[in-house]
Amino acid sequence: MKPYLKRAWAEISLSDLRNNVNVINSMLGANTEIMAVVKADAYGHGEHQVSRCLWESGVRHFAVSNLDEAIEVRKSCPEAEVLILGYTPPEYGQALADNNIIQGIVSSEYAYELAENTSDNIRCHIKIDTGMGRIGLKYDSPSECAEEIIRLSECEKLSVEGVYTHFAVADCDDEENIEYTDRQEKFILDVYDELAEKGLKLRHLHFANSATISYRNSERSTLARAGIIMYGLCPNYPMKIDNRLKSVMALKAVISHVKKVCKGECISYGRTFTAPRDMDIATVTIGYADGYSRLLSSKGEILVHGKRCRIVGRVCMDQLMIDVSEVSAKAGDIVTLIGKDGDDEITADELAAICSTIGYEVVCGISKRVPRIFHESEEE
Ligand SMILES: *Cc1c(COP(=O)(O)O)cnc(C)c1O
Repeated sequence: MKPYLKRAWAEISLSDLRNNVNVINSMLGANTEIMAVVKADAYGHGEHQVSRCLWESGVRHFAVSNLDEAIEVRKSCPEAEVLILGYTPPEYGQALADNNIIQGIVSSEYAYELAENTSDNIRCHIKIDTGMGRIGLKYDSPSECAEEIIRLSECEKLSVEGVYTHFAVADCDDEENIEYTDRQEKFILDVYDELAEKGLKLRHLHFANSATISYRNSERSTLARAGIIMYGLCPNYPMKIDNRLKSVMALKAVISHVKKVCKGECISYGRTFTAPRDMDIATVTIGYADGYSRLLSSKGEILVHGKRCRIVGRVCMDQLMIDVSEVSAKAGDIVTLIGKDGDDEITADELAAICSTIGYEVVCGISKRVPRIFHESEEE
């Protein structure tokens, strides 16, 4: 008996995660360290166990999206460096200082507001908007930007430790987009170098995300903000990533019922599927409330004993039906919605492509109802 309800669950392979950290480290230059992006509960993989595993693998820098997540990482890894990439309401300035969290600075006004809300120093990295159009200081020239950062660094309550930016199209391989990213990269490098010339030597300069690490690595990023590739998925499927990277999450469920359906009978809500011939249909204990998208209705495939079986009819909230006419399936059998079974593998990226989205959304969307089961894979 397993210590969790054997209905729908996600298996998180900590050995694959460790493997991915080693692979990413081998891709980085000598002066670049991993900053593990563990926002959104480590992309749905489970923040606590993932952060612990990363810490034990030598990762020292972590990035999250907000203060609540930062405090969770602080509990998981008391010694870690934790950066909040997004907004923290300025009235929580003191909480940042109290928990030794580094805040990303979204604008100059924001920096001064933060400083007014703390009696201790707040550590920060200044975000520069070089073309993502989301958050950060925005200037026409690197020198104007550097001058403003010098002013911020003179603010008594702020410890400016780094600058960073985020690329919009680092996952694209066409000339125009490569030039766009080149311009973004040049801007932040110029800001950093100008700051150094003006006497402000910052410990950190970072701009690499998973796509940058994969397709245009730069020795100058002191931290590489590795997100999706650490979990073994692609920034831009089907563009390839290093084939040594392995997907960390598998999604499993069980067959609750198998029955014969005659030609002409209908399956599931809306009667969108009518059996074209006599079929064996199995019901599976997972649905869209578990984060398995309803957009996969009649399109997705599921591995049963290593063979692909097509979903028939609409995915329901807690259950779905598959065609098992070609495999011998019985109640209680485990099926694989994401992951390997036999020689075949269904990836979150593959499901995302069917739903016109990205693998990120698939793994982040696996709901709270699905227990995460952490294990070391047998292959290692
Ligand atoms: C989420 C995020 C990342 C990680 O992106 P991946 O594509 O998953 O590597 C890096 N930097 C910032 C600012 C982010 O918000």
